[in-house]
Amino acid sequence: MAEDLMEKIVNLSKRRGIVFPSAEIYGGFRSTYDYGPLGVLMLRNVKNAWWRSMVQLRHDVVGLDASILSTPKIWEASGHLENFTDPLVDCRSCKERWRADQIQGVCPNCGSTDLTEARAFNMMFKTYVGPVEDEASVAYLRPETAQGMFINFKNVLQTTRKKPPFGIAQVGKSFRNEITPGNFVFRTREFEQMEMEYFVPPEEAPKWFEYWYTERLQWYKDLGIRDDLLRLRHHEKEELSHYSAGTVDVEFAFPWGWGELEGIANRTDFDLKAHGAHSGERLEYFDPVTNRPYIPYVIEPAAGATRTMMAFLVASYDEDVIGGEARTVLRLDPRLAPYQVAILPLSKKEPLMKLADEIFDSLSPTFSCDYDDTQSIGRRYRRQDEVGTPSCVTVDFDSLDDNSVTIRDRDSTSQIRVPIAELKSHLVSILGWDAGAC
Ligand code: ATP
Repeated sequence: MAEDLMEKIVNLSKRRGIVFPSAEIYGGFRSTYDYGPLGVLMLRNVKNAWWRSMVQLRHDVVGLDASILSTPKIWEASGHLENFTDPLVDCRSCKERWRADQIQGVCPNCGSTDLTEARAFNMMFKTYVGPVEDEASVAYLRPETAQGMFINFKNVLQTTRKKPPFGIAQVGKSFRNEITPGNFVFRTREFEQMEMEYFVPPEEAPKWFEYWYTERLQWYKDLGIRDDLLRLRHHEKEELSHYSAGTVDVEFAFPWGWGELEGIANRTDFDLKAHGAHSGERLEYFDPVTNRPYIPYVIEPAAGATRTMMAFLVASYDEDVIGGEARTVLRLDPRLAPYQVAILPLSKKEPLMKLADEIFDSLSPTFSCDYDDTQSIGRRYRRQDEVGTPSCVTVDFDSLDDNSVTIRDRDSTSQIRVPIAELKSHLVSILGWDAGAC
């Protein structure tokens, strides 16, 4: 059943241009994926929804876009060069490689227990900057976006005049040489993260930790994931990362079981202290009330954009029967759907096409719109349903006389007739939209 659902989602993603396996014409390339015409819209919506809630709607958080390539000194200070490792084992029988902590001593491929000792494998991708490939030119692709915020702490403090509690947020690509990528886009070697570092007075860290994991859980619920598909999981002491005084994961019930969507960690003053010590710069805040400097603690909600998009696909996937006919429907929140509106002229004849074009032009500045004039109207509705378009606007021959069109609702399939002059305001209200909804 679970495999069935994943297979359906992978197939739908490929068939409808949401996610393609990368480099298929060359036989594919090891768990890499390309986001197609609809996937790029949906992924952008996920990131925009995060940015809106974490930055735009808050006056205590500002944004950043830091470089992916930078000096290895960052990773030395952060502990990644030493600690960002997974325990790697080889199966002596079939030669497959595994993460020791994921397989309990038995090779999942051939069942052999003849495994090598686990050895630490650093997950950072190494490259060389400039024409000479020597030790001095080594650089790493960032395995998380977070360090960009720490090394820019002083810049942001000075340019924005923020004071703790305040946050710096960033969305961008990260790279990890995962030993066993898989489960579609759940675990890939190149992925996108949405991270925020929230700097607080040390004594307030426990309060803000609880605040942020509560907020972050609610974000997924507000965007339509059912309560029973989400849970918070507190890490045991032995599980904590080298920098963490406490971590809570937001987990989602994937078809194969619970999996992490986001980790919220109390990173203490570990990173600012470490970068301060390694760089010689004082990364602290001067408190004008006590007249003393201090190093803030950091609460970090760190989410995966690509993994979260997949969770939204899984959570919204549904099949039902309409008028005796089976259909697939993605019950996506309008803010996440690739298209909010599809404009469907009933015929390719003029002057219907011209009217449909005008309607597209009047709606597309406000909504992401599709335009489809191929095949029967029933088939076109099904196509929009399976990619989650919440509203279809049908332009028919009566529209030429009564200046009205039909709005058809994805979930109920009910239809209403509205004057073209009021179409946009109807859609704004049906979709819960305002100018900045995404
Ligand atoms: P995991 O235990 O699944 O490897 P992690 O605890 O190492 O994840 P973090 O370092 O906390 O992950 O990264 C924050 C978020 O980034 C994760 O919750 C996840 O959504 C996303 N993420 C991490 N690694 C990957 C990956 N290889 N592919 C896709 N998303 C990822």
